[in-house]
Amino acid sequence: MDIIPATSARVEVRVPPPPRFKPLPYPSSRTGLVYDDRMRFHAEDENININPDDIHPEDPRRIYAIFHEIREAGLVRESVDSDDEDAVSSDNKCWRIHTRHATKAEICLIHTPEHYLFVEALQNKTPLELQALYREMDSIYFNNSTFDSALLAAGGAIEACRAVVMGHVRNAIAIIRPPGHHAESTEPSGFCIFNNVPIAARVCQNDFPETCRKIIILDWDVHHGNGIQHAFYDDPNVLYISLHVFKGGSFYPGNPDADLTYCGEGPGLGRNVNIPWDDHGMGDAEYIYAFQQVVIPIVSEFDPDLVIISAGFDAAEGDALGGCEVTPAGYAHMTHMLMRIAQGKMAVCLEGGYNLRSISRSALAVTRTLMLQPPDRLAVDLNPNESAVRTVEQVKRAQSNFWKCMYPKHIGPATPAFSSTTRLHEVLRKFQSLNMAQEYCMTPLQIIRDDLRETFEHNVVATRNFMDRRPLLVIFHDPPNLTLSPDPVTGKTELHNMWLDYVGWAIKNGFEVIDVNVPKVEPIVDDDGEYVHADTYEERADKTKQLASYIWENYIEPHEATQVFFLGIGSAYIGLIDLLSNNEACTDDNSVVEGVIAFIADTSLQSIKRATDDSIAVADWYYTHSKLFVQNNHLCWDPNRGRKPRKKWGKLIRSEHTAIDDMLAQHKEEVQQYLLEKKEAYVDPGDDTSVEENIQQPLRSPPLPTGFRSPGSVPPTKNGHGDARMPPMAFFTVPNSRTGTLSPTAPGSPLRQGFGRG
Ligand SMILES: [Zn+2]
Repeated sequence: MDIIPATSARVEVRVPPPPRFKPLPYPSSRTGLVYDDRMRFHAEDENININPDDIHPEDPRRIYAIFHEIREAGLVRESVDSDDEDAVSSDNKCWRIHTRHATKAEICLIHTPEHYLFVEALQNKTPLELQALYREMDSIYFNNSTFDSALLAAGGAIEACRAVVMGHVRNAIAIIRPPGHHAESTEPSGFCIFNNVPIAARVCQNDFPETCRKIIILDWDVHHGNGIQHAFYDDPNVLYISLHVFKGGSFYPGNPDADLTYCGEGPGLGRNVNIPWDDHGMGDAEYIYAFQQVVIPIVSEFDPDLVIISAGFDAAEGDALGGCEVTPAGYAHMTHMLMRIAQGKMAVCLEGGYNLRSISRSALAVTRTLMLQPPDRLAVDLNPNESAVRTVEQVKRAQSNFWKCMYPKHIGPATPAFSSTTRLHEVLRKFQSLNMAQEYCMTPLQIIRDDLRETFEHNVVATRNFMDRRPLLVIFHDPPNLTLSPDPVTGKTELHNMWLDYVGWAIKNGFEVIDVNVPKVEPIVDDDGEYVHADTYEERADKTKQLASYIWENYIEPHEATQVFFLGIGSAYIGLIDLLSNNEACTDDNSVVEGVIAFIADTSLQSIKRATDDSIAVADWYYTHSKLFVQNNHLCWDPNRGRKPRKKWGKLIRSEHTAIDDMLAQHKEEVQQYLLEKKEAYVDPGDDTSVEENIQQPLRSPPLPTGFRSPGSVPPTKNGHGDARMPPMAFFTVPNSRTGTLSPTAPGSPLRQGFGRG
């Protein structure tokens, strides 16, 4: 580097060195634009359609409206031919790319010669013959200029793509019609004559075999591009991705193969990606979500040489035919997200879109983005709707067979290995259950009910003497969650397991414990779509209710616990309240239920409800027997709410924290003190078996009802515990109204002896 000393003291002028690297890959920063008025000559015969209110949506004014909008924005070079405009000002405008008629050979790269000849023959047909064809065919009209316009549209797409591939322009937009993506190799359909984009893709592959081998066609028209899918269904080098309204196959073009399970065939398997919306109404949130989750990862992995967008603007807000809500900013963002692919080599080719205002605004936003103007901001709350999330999840499952970047890898009931898979939260709970067996000799309790057992194995564990005359703490909690935000320093992820502290403490202090994990998701086998959504609030509440009643009836009420304390953590609290509502014995004067403790975050507060008219007495009981820690920002504390927390909701304590784990940590001592006080205040009405006597007893299994197969007894080890590595399963039959199995609470059951209440 040369340093030139300046004449005045202390000032140095540095001369920058020449660039060390090759120039930027684009000879210019131009965006190309294809538009030719002659494409407007393909029009509906005015003799066929006399009613001005019933104009065919594929209106010749569409392309003019778009061109006019871009030109009005000052973005178009006026002259197609002259190069004499001021170079600086022209760089801020789109360069006009000449369009031309596509050749027969080019058309026949996609279409049959018969199809070409059919369209060619339209030039010489009489109005009567054209009218007859109009009535005979689906969603299409012809006139004597149709052939000419269609050749120009295909030629425009070809020239736009060629200019991009050759580097004459950085990227391009082709404002062309008639559209193409519904046209099949053998016939026109859905307003489409020749399939412009596939023709252009094939021409580029043929003309530039070295530099344009792999192409992606991204079709955001609201309709499925059946013609494009069929043209490349077995082609490994053309990746077709379509986002479209599907509605179970009822939306145009109405072929079942627009569904997400159609992923290509032969060498093209995995090169076809359908993102079929269940309904209309999708907007920026849904499209951007699909781009983030599916389109961009797959396109990046495919790593194409050219991106072609089949850009229908009929998913735009204001388009009555599409009924969707994509804004101009939404289209700009989708364009922008694709512009980093293929070194920015992108051609945008018009397909559908029928609201003249919507398509012009959308196309202008896309053009501005192509010209490197940053996209406008999107709305703040971009939350995709549930139906879209479900669709995208299903697409990810289907595509995970073909793309490394796509998860989950497809595993479902139809997969041979399905039966040997285990969900992560089950693995975690099993691990916890084994841990509890090792540390506290806790044993899984058998849950026998057809609808419960599947998901509840290992989910209910108890200390070995839970049936005895001792205080019992019953904990209901959510499954262990993986915290998905790793520690920023260590990078570790932590399981939420605060309640385990409570288990350990309770056992050390002479409580028996039943620990109930309420699993979060339904089994995959119950889900026909093979996508498991997080269970809803109602589903979880209902499941906890079933489980709470079950455990009460089978494992608490029939036995001898002197005092029972319920601890409900998170949404499990609802199940406890339901249990107290449905079992009057829980809240009467002789009840063994001594206290209800809960940690409440996102759930609404509940009162104990009774069919009988003792609501005041129940509210009194609940208030004196409860300790309910409620998150700091819970709705019930809102001063604008108008009414204060009421007695019937139990004794509420406002926590300083909002997260359950923080609350569990903060109030641990308070809960422990409460439990100890209650325990010490207990006056045994007769039997004075002391707590200490029981501690060293060997593990035992409860007596088995007759007729039930024993799983094998577990011999005590020398330290008095069972084999801690394999927790034995305590074995009961439990009342099942449907099977009528002998119940431990049935008269004559050995478990019922000595049980005085009832
Ligand atoms: Zn369309």
